[in-house]
Amino acid sequence: MPIQEAKVIWRNGELVPWAEATTHVMTHGLHYGTGVFEGMRAYDTSHAGSIVFRNREHFERLRFSARVYGINLAYEVDDLMAATKETLRANGLKSAYIRPLAFLGYGEMGPSSTNCETDVIIAAFPWGAYLGEDGLKNGIDVCVSSWRRSAPGTIPAGVKAAGNYLSSRLISVEAKSRGFAEGIGLSHDGYVSEGAGENLFLIRNGRIYTPPGAASILMGITRDTAMTLARKLGYEVIEQPIAREMLYGADEIFLTGTAAEVTPVRSVDRLNVGRPGDNPVTRAIQDAFFGLFTGETEDEWGWLDPVQG
Ligand code: PMP
Repeated sequence: MPIQEAKVIWRNGELVPWAEATTHVMTHGLHYGTGVFEGMRAYDTSHAGSIVFRNREHFERLRFSARVYGINLAYEVDDLMAATKETLRANGLKSAYIRPLAFLGYGEMGPSSTNCETDVIIAAFPWGAYLGEDGLKNGIDVCVSSWRRSAPGTIPAGVKAAGNYLSSRLISVEAKSRGFAEGIGLSHDGYVSEGAGENLFLIRNGRIYTPPGAASILMGITRDTAMTLARKLGYEVIEQPIAREMLYGADEIFLTGTAAEVTPVRSVDRLNVGRPGDNPVTRAIQDAFFGLFTGETEDEWGWLDPVQG
């Protein structure tokens, strides 16, 4: 699906026309993957107007990612939160996918260069359900990828850096070429890790399981949201290493991510998950999640950041 262009992009403190937000071909980040980014969403809620979901947590993660790679960020979390809201207002967008990106710019070649300015942009544009409306409702078909996620001590999976998405590309391109909506990566030692752009949860006998931070995952903000909502609903949520075969014996599986939101998984490697169409725990968490944007779920945590004011 082609990008749906908006009017302006925030770039280093200024709003520039969408078409003019370009960069030089010798940009460091293009050659060495030295960019860190976020994927966020604004929702047009029925009770609180347009809001940015978990604005603060996304920029805290961006600053963490930048710190790991020695990418200087001239903006504090609060500056970036305000810039995001400014970008939405300037584009007249009430709901949007938001893509902040900080990358090493033009200046010097070589992976360890310290003479590249950091370019920071925030783009916002309309984007619907990443894995499809049908996927949100009826679930998606996934496969276990032949590609492993990066091992601990190599490229850190817990950092949201541009270069990490080479792994995601291998996994999702392979999955699509085999007729699946998404691929699940295993960790270097063969445990379940995560989807190409989503965290994974499975339900067995009423308990909810999800891989721990050590399983080469990104600590997803939607993962945290789903865990918090599930516990609030009274479910036990257990972070533990998950053997591949647990995928084939699960009662329910769902994926979480800013783009994917809360998407049920209908089959893994062509084996149905649980009983088709029967996924009460996933539905309860999905309803609680979307209920945040209708007011049916009370936002006890201050996750909704109003765009106006
Ligand atoms: N894992 C990967 C590899 C991702 O790209 C994403 C999307 N950012 C997630 C998990 C989910 O993270 P979040 O809920 O913060 O969007």
